[in-house]
Amino acid sequence: VALAAEGPCKLVEVKLNVDAAVIRTGHVEAGQTCEITGIGPVPATTARALLNDALVSVVVKDGGDITAVTKATRTIPARLRRAVEARYPTCGRRSCANDQFLQIDHVIPLEAHGRTEFDNLWRLCPHCHHLKTHRGWRVAGTPHDWDLVPPDNPKGGRAPP
Ligand SMILES: [Zn+2]
Repeated sequence: VALAAEGPCKLVEVKLNVDAAVIRTGHVEAGQTCEITGIGPVPATTARALLNDALVSVVVKDGGDITAVTKATRTIPARLRRAVEARYPTCGRRSCANDQFLQIDHVIPLEAHGRTEFDNLWRLCPHCHHLKTHRGWRVAGTPHDWDLVPPDNPKGGRAPP
């Protein structure tokens, strides 16, 4: 998931309205609310994933009462952003030396409960980001020693040069 490209931060504002029961049970039943303002209903799995996303403002309602609100943060905190930028002066894919237009990316996607924290962030160039998002390339390795490997790489090891 791209948070923002280089340069001025894109503003992100997502507001999720969800019944507490949906979060508890993991599915939406008739009469229950699980929707993103301005977009519409979303699956309960999406709601659960968004709970972990600091970029999203989540309003959880139990009956008529709001039981939880997570604070929306519009961007990655500046200190975290600087740390990620310093760690990845070039694209995170080892065989790629691109240092232009790098995008901060979640190693484990938000949809899979990845968190917006240093161990789960790196930078990819637009091309490699596309490979990961649309071509099935996977992240291999360990935090701060990641690599991006093709989908047919059996061991998830290094990508061929
Ligand atoms: Zn790259």
